[in-house]
Amino acid sequence: MKCDPNLYRAAPPSLAVKPRLIRHLFLPPLIIILMIGLGYIGFWTSEHFGIRSLSENGQRQLELHARTVESEISKYTYLPSLLELETSVPQLLADPTPEHRQTVNAYLEGLNRRSRSRAIYVMDTTGRVMATSNWRDVDSYLGEDLSFRAYFQKAVRGEPGRFYGIGSTSGEPGYYLAHGLEEHGKIIGVAVVKVRLEALEERWQRARLEAFVSDENGIIILSSDPARRLKSVVPLSDETKEKLARSLQYYWFPLNELQPLARETLADGVEKLTFPANSELSADDDSISYLAQTRPLSDTPWNFTLLTPLQDLRREAINQGILVAVAFALVAFLLIAWNERRKVIATRLAAREALQEANNQLERRITERTGDLRASNERLKSQIRERRQAEETLRRAQDELVQAGKLAAIGQMSTSIAHELNQPLAAMRTLSGNTIRFLQRGQLDVASTNLKTINDLIDRMGRITASLRSFARRGDNEGQASLGKAVDAALQLLGARVESITLQLHRQFSDVQVQIDQTRLEQILVNLIGNALDAMQAQPAPQLWLEGEEFNGKYRLRVRDNGHGVDAETRKHLFEPFFTTKPGEQGLGLGLTLSASLAAATGGHLGVEHPASGGTTFVLSLPLVSPTPAEPI
Ligand code: ADP
Repeated sequence: MKCDPNLYRAAPPSLAVKPRLIRHLFLPPLIIILMIGLGYIGFWTSEHFGIRSLSENGQRQLELHARTVESEISKYTYLPSLLELETSVPQLLADPTPEHRQTVNAYLEGLNRRSRSRAIYVMDTTGRVMATSNWRDVDSYLGEDLSFRAYFQKAVRGEPGRFYGIGSTSGEPGYYLAHGLEEHGKIIGVAVVKVRLEALEERWQRARLEAFVSDENGIIILSSDPARRLKSVVPLSDETKEKLARSLQYYWFPLNELQPLARETLADGVEKLTFPANSELSADDDSISYLAQTRPLSDTPWNFTLLTPLQDLRREAINQGILVAVAFALVAFLLIAWNERRKVIATRLAAREALQEANNQLERRITERTGDLRASNERLKSQIRERRQAEETLRRAQDELVQAGKLAAIGQMSTSIAHELNQPLAAMRTLSGNTIRFLQRGQLDVASTNLKTINDLIDRMGRITASLRSFARRGDNEGQASLGKAVDAALQLLGARVESITLQLHRQFSDVQVQIDQTRLEQILVNLIGNALDAMQAQPAPQLWLEGEEFNGKYRLRVRDNGHGVDAETRKHLFEPFFTTKPGEQGLGLGLTLSASLAAATGGHLGVEHPASGGTTFVLSLPLVSPTPAEPI
């Protein structure tokens, strides 16, 4: 069974290989690029929304802490103006006697203690300190000229003096609130309260809050990180620097710029600042980023800035980015795997369909062929039937022919049979006549001898007729025969002819049992020996060899004579029916034909050889009844 190879033929390679090659070459880099891209988008989105949420949260924090700063500052605002109410103060300013000074010193000392400010002092309109709460200290301001201070200059003009600076005497930073003391609408002096705002810084540190307050010059005056203190958040112009140096506002501090590595404005008052790492918090990183939210503080020209570290957010955003990239890679992998699997399934389905189609086609063909085979089987059966009928007819015809052949042979033999029978009959007539005479003479012993001879002659005649009867009998396809008996019977039948010539007979065969009807074997032998006798008629020393041998489960009997042999023309027609070279009534031309067909009917064979020494050899092969097992090779 052959399947159609077209059914399994794959797509043309040129069409299938090229896109696959392109896919294999470009897919991995594409996936990597997409992974990086999506990872970055994930990172960016996470950071963006994180900053937004931090910024919203920070806005509340900013408001809260800015208010705290405002309240811390404003709680001292009223304090300098209070001194207007104290009568000893204008008295001192009008009449600066030691008594008045002492009274005011004591008053200021007590007030300072109660208000927990750093110092409270009173200056005259020239800027000289007339009385102070720290009059007992060695570094007391008493008698100092602080007219260069901006807060004094503002206050003496009737404006509120607000000032953050470093004390020129103590070198200590502080917040100065100055107020012009009025009497009858005229400024008579200036009252100043110095407060320290470090408490705010400590509070921020305790709360782990990163924040700073920058003044109107952009200088950080309060910071949770001491390293940032007195650094400017904006670049200072040379003019400003000179002005600040002159006012000694920040004493002699260098006022370096707080230079961020990167500054990105996100919204109004919201910036992203990146500083070089310098604290233990960011020891692992080179830089640290903050979300800086700034808000002006009311009543002051200052700004409050809240710094929210973005490290955690950044780490979170990186994680999100990695997560997105990994998720994408996973999805891509799953999609590729799913696609591959889909293709495999599709291929399998296609193969299965092709197989199914091939199967169907095969089945169709088998059905067609089976139909054909059935038809031809039917034809064959009918042919076999016809053949059998023909065989039967043939067999019957053959039987008839055999019978006819036998009868013909008997006819041929009739002269010699008559001779055979006439001889004993004539002898018997003579013997019986003689016997009567011997009986009449009383010679009983001679008479009995004659009668015995007559008896023998009758036996001989009986044997002749019995042979003829058995020869004429119809044979059978089945049965087995004794070769020895068959040869004897044939010689018996041909007895007269054998005796008529001085035949020299060579018997060199075994008495084996062969698979053929006894009568048929006898008939074959009568034909073969009869023909040999005919061929040796002109031979002065006729010889007949009957030689047997076992060969391949058969027995091969050679019937050889030293007769005239068979000429070349005759050899071609030997086994043809009705072919004879014998003159007149002597030959019918059926002997060899019948003998060959009888041998073939039992699985045997009759052949002829023409020995170079002369004469003819007929070779009769017949299957043995129980063949001697073949010798192992
Ligand atoms: P028939 O004996 O009636 O002629 P056969 O078929 O027996 O028919 O023989 C056919 C012919 O074969 C014979 O006429 C004879 O010429 C030839 N033939 C048969 N046997 C021999 C033999 N032993 N030697 C020579 N010729 C033979």
